[in-house]
Amino acid sequence: MFELINLKGNTYCYTMPTNVGVYLNDDDSVYLIDTGVNERSAQKILAALEEKGWSVKAVLLTHAHTDHAGGCRYIVEATGCKAYATQAERVFVEYPDLEPAMVYGTFPCKDFRGKVMNTPACSVHDISEFEFPQGFEMFHLPGHFADMVGFRTPDEVYFVADAAIAEETLQRSPMSYIFDVERHYETLEKIKAFQGELCVPSHAQPTRDIASLADKNARALDRVGEDILEFLSSPKTAEELAECFARRWQLPEDFVHYVMTCSGVRAYLTYLRHRGVAEYFFEDNRMLWKKTTS
Ligand SMILES: [Zn+2]
Repeated sequence: MFELINLKGNTYCYTMPTNVGVYLNDDDSVYLIDTGVNERSAQKILAALEEKGWSVKAVLLTHAHTDHAGGCRYIVEATGCKAYATQAERVFVEYPDLEPAMVYGTFPCKDFRGKVMNTPACSVHDISEFEFPQGFEMFHLPGHFADMVGFRTPDEVYFVADAAIAEETLQRSPMSYIFDVERHYETLEKIKAFQGELCVPSHAQPTRDIASLADKNARALDRVGEDILEFLSSPKTAEELAECFARRWQLPEDFVHYVMTCSGVRAYLTYLRHRGVAEYFFEDNRMLWKKTTS
């Protein structure tokens, strides 16, 4: 259901597949937190704002993923506002080929490119140059992506982006998009401090019980790590581990899911290697992973 709902005071949320935050200033201008997935969602957001007589003063991106930044260029061009993101994230919005290349390993073939990551390139300013109004704060939430951030509005509503995803999504598969597992664990601990406050994850209902959702997300991270260590009862390549994981969780057999799973498995192997519980070796020019025994 796409609707603009008032969360508290001047803080609103446009509920759609990716929740978009709206903070209303005294002069009927708004700050938008994220922009929806594409031009169509951007148009819906602007239509809802126009109905209220509100204009867009600036876009604040939590991170560069298409479902958050896909409508950015349309909104910037249609309103003349500026968009802001952290240094690491703005690079991905300005050069959208980077993210699919990062996940795939190099410039990917057409079966992957543009399927899930097709943010229209948009000029984005460094958010450190943005002058936040009194009581409006940004906090870093790295892990899900390079330098994702969240925002607290002066009404004490916390937009926590993709730091915690919905329980139903985790039940389908505990592996969600991940850049840095260790940082993501730290981020989940960080958002638990917002317990009791109104928190808005991008893909779940607003909640005052963020600690419980953060715990479920942390247990999902544990589960993937445990699965991989279990699969390593005999040495395997990263691709074989992805195959085991896809089979266990009955993931769809297609190019996009396979590449995303391989990428996710590598993120966990980094984490397990840094924790000293998994290591690699070479055999017949194959790079194999095994559990560390000592
Ligand atoms: Zn994301």
